[in-house]
Amino acid sequence: MTLLGDAAHLMPPLGVGVNLAVLDAAELAPALAGSATIGAAVRGYEKTMLPR
Ligand SMILES: Cc1cc2nc3c(=O)[nH]c(=O)nc-3n(C[C@H](O)[C@H](O)[C@H](O)COP(=O)(O)OP(=O)(O)OC[C@H]3O[C@@H](n4cnc5c(N)ncnc54)[C@H](O)[C@@H]3O)c2cc1C
Repeated sequence: MTLLGDAAHLMPPLGVGVNLAVLDAAELAPALAGSATIGAAVRGYEKTMLPR
């Protein structure tokens, strides 16, 4: 399991939530397509998503 969008980014309504959700999806999709396992894909995605 992993999180993206509002579920992953606790923040006030600043008008950027959709941008964060789309950016998360744009990074998670290629990670899933290009990794040997789902676990590796999620770990790679979370490495950049979590600091964001
Ligand atoms: C009034 C308002 C104005 C906004 N204006 C902007 C703006 O101008 N620009 C901008 O970038 N962002 C804006 N945002 C923020 C933006 O709407 C969110 O950041 C964005 O929709 C997050 O997308 P998401 O897919 O993460 O979550 P959501 O769009 O909330 O999608 C979550 C989905 O999960 C469903 N769900 C919930 N629980 C369950 C369950 N148990 N089982 C199955 N489905 C479930 C919900 O019904 C919903 O469809 C605004 C938000 C609000 C409230």
